[in-house]
Amino acid sequence: MHKNIVAEAGLIAHGRGEAFDYLLGERTPNFAIRQETLAVILLLEAKKPVISVNGNVAVLCPKELVALSKELGAPLEINLFYRTKERELAIKKVLDDAGADQVLGIDPDMQETIPELSHLRRIVDSRGIAQSDCVFVPLEDGDRSMALRNLGKNIVTVDLNPLSRTSLTATVSITNNITRSITEMIEIAKELKNSSPDQIKMLRGTLENKKLLREALEFIVFRLKKLASEESALEI
Ligand code: ATP
Ligand code: MG
Repeated sequence: MHKNIVAEAGLIAHGRGEAFDYLLGERTPNFAIRQETLAVILLLEAKKPVISVNGNVAVLCPKELVALSKELGAPLEINLFYRTKERELAIKKVLDDAGADQVLGIDPDMQETIPELSHLRRIVDSRGIAQSDCVFVPLEDGDRSMALRNLGKNIVTVDLNPLSRTSLTATVSITNNITRSITEMIEIAKELKNSSPDQIKMLRGTLENKKLLREALEFIVFRLKKLASEESALEI
């Protein structure tokens, strides 16, 4: 935040995430690997996938984002809720330092607006999110996810809160910490690239977003009940 990469509100959002991560046990549960698999299938199938980057995401896992971008052939686009020129440049530097080839979203000549949102939150890159059929928007705000969904785009998110409006709106929601999920998605993308179209089709048939989101809630309920009932469970 002091380097102007993350907005003040970003710190509060981070805290919400951490609270939910305690409920998961700060580890990737099995259902999240299946959510990540469905997400990667969608992103690999997309004609123009784009990865949206905000301040929190840039701080938490810049190198992993660059690696995923290369693995999926999906450009990185800076997309901010609290947009200032300073923050745009600070995030661009983080991504450049992490090895990004191209960073979209901050060239004023390439900006256009999407409907339904207030002024600064509307801006998207005409080479990126504007044209994209599948946008990966980790840690995104609910209004913007809905606006993108209303434009007919597939939305993939990572959001530790399975009940956030973004989680409920997305085509695929990953209920996991982004610090774990991007690395896992890179591995999954590598594996899927070695699979046949038939294998991927079969795998896809077993994965359904709303069902997996329900599994996330069930996992949390089950885990908390177990903690509450076992005497040894509350020992560190
Ligand atoms: P919504 O607008 O979607 O209803 P919100 O207002 O809580 O939800 P935003 O601040 O708009 O959410 O977006 C931040 C979201 O990112 C929160 O749901 C938060 O739980 C989640 N989050 C924060 N840190 C992480 C993290 N490290 N990994 C995954 N998700 C996270
Ligand atoms: Mg919100």
